[in-house]
Amino acid sequence: MERLRAFITIKTYPNPSATYDELVCTAGVTEEGEFVRLYPIRFRDLPWGQQYQKYQWIEVMAERHRRDVRKESWRPQPDSIQFYGEPIKTRNVDWSDRGKYVLKYVSRSMEELWEAQKVDNTSLGIVRPKVVEDLLVEEEEDRDWKPSALAALDQGRFWEDRHATRQPPRKVPFKFRYKFRCDDERCKGHRMMNEDWELGRLCWRHRDRGDSEDEAIEGVRQRFFTEMCAPTRETYFFVGTVLRHGTWVVIGTFYPKVGRSGSPVGQTLDMFPE
Ligand SMILES: [Zn+2]
Repeated sequence: MERLRAFITIKTYPNPSATYDELVCTAGVTEEGEFVRLYPIRFRDLPWGQQYQKYQWIEVMAERHRRDVRKESWRPQPDSIQFYGEPIKTRNVDWSDRGKYVLKYVSRSMEELWEAQKVDNTSLGIVRPKVVEDLLVEEEEDRDWKPSALAALDQGRFWEDRHATRQPPRKVPFKFRYKFRCDDERCKGHRMMNEDWELGRLCWRHRDRGDSEDEAIEGVRQRFFTEMCAPTRETYFFVGTVLRHGTWVVIGTFYPKVGRSGSPVGQTLDMFPE
């Protein structure tokens, strides 16, 4: 068991699983800028005082995984989570306070990360896309979680007397994919799944406001085009692999205003070329 200090940069949308109850992938960087994944964490079951936000420093006792070979994975002891200082807010501040940790190890491309994965099981990274072409939206085949996952969730809650605590997370009935290319001659383009908690939450926020599904999708796309991947932003994708298949997905987006990331490589993103 070791004490880890991590700057949380990623929370994926909660996902019930048959093995681990409800899963949220959380990941971050250490003070040295190295990536760490904390897994599994039943995030919504944490007491309020331990529900860390994104861009919050935390300290946690954790140990290496026996079954998860991914290089950056740690098994945390959830009741040991402590906040360390206040979250670093973006409002009225530039993002360089975050960028100095987050952007320490930017990979050139997905192709570079695939190679690293083969060499040492690298499973987390941050890349700066050369061109972001689109946000593709597709309806999910199943609009609700698989019955087996829901049953496991009920079962776990029952045994641990947590059944009264919460409803299962609402499934987002759409798949979002980022279509982009990297700055690498080997790149053939990517359509990578986006599992960022922010997009799912945004989608539900629209629905709860009474928007139709089409309007909700439009709302998410708006956010994508005018904010996360706007030409005024220096956009980076946090990417990570899915345990079972080793497939890479986008798990978060880091999008400081151009020139305000604290990164020496700040430059305008080449958006939507003809
Ligand atoms: Zn590529």
